[in-house]
Amino acid sequence: MASIFTKIIRGEIPSYKIAEDDRFFAFLDINPVSKGHTLVIPKQETDYLFDLNPALLGDLMQFAQKIARALKQTVACKRVGVVVMGLEVPHAHIHLIPMNSEADIDFRKPKPTLTPEEFTALANEIKAGIK
Ligand code: 5GP
Repeated sequence: MASIFTKIIRGEIPSYKIAEDDRFFAFLDINPVSKGHTLVIPKQETDYLFDLNPALLGDLMQFAQKIARALKQTVACKRVGVVVMGLEVPHAHIHLIPMNSEADIDFRKPKPTLTPEEFTALANEIKAGIK
């Protein structure tokens, strides 16, 4: 069965898309730990990030770099943190999380809530900043 992220890539499940090319896809996390929390995924459905072909993993990071730079311009933060967990969704993904302190990447803390309009505006703003 296709993963929830494959369904997002196919457009079967809606997402706040930021960027896509033939191999990678970036979209806002629906339950962000901080505003701008973004997921970057390979279209190839592989559960564990470090099972990816090394070249694909490298290219995924380069794709994520472009997104992280645009994200940092859009959401005021000291830096964009990178987290890999994969305990919930068995489709390799990198979390990009704008952070000013360690607390901003604490997945247990209360999460910010955004309206659909705010999610859409944020995704569009990040997208516009991609170089
Ligand atoms: P992990 O697998 O790394 O533990 O966490 C999966 C992440 O995917 C979580 O941060 C969760 O909020 C996010 N997520 C799960 N389902 C969806 C979804 O349908 N849409 C979006 N945009 N994010 C999701």
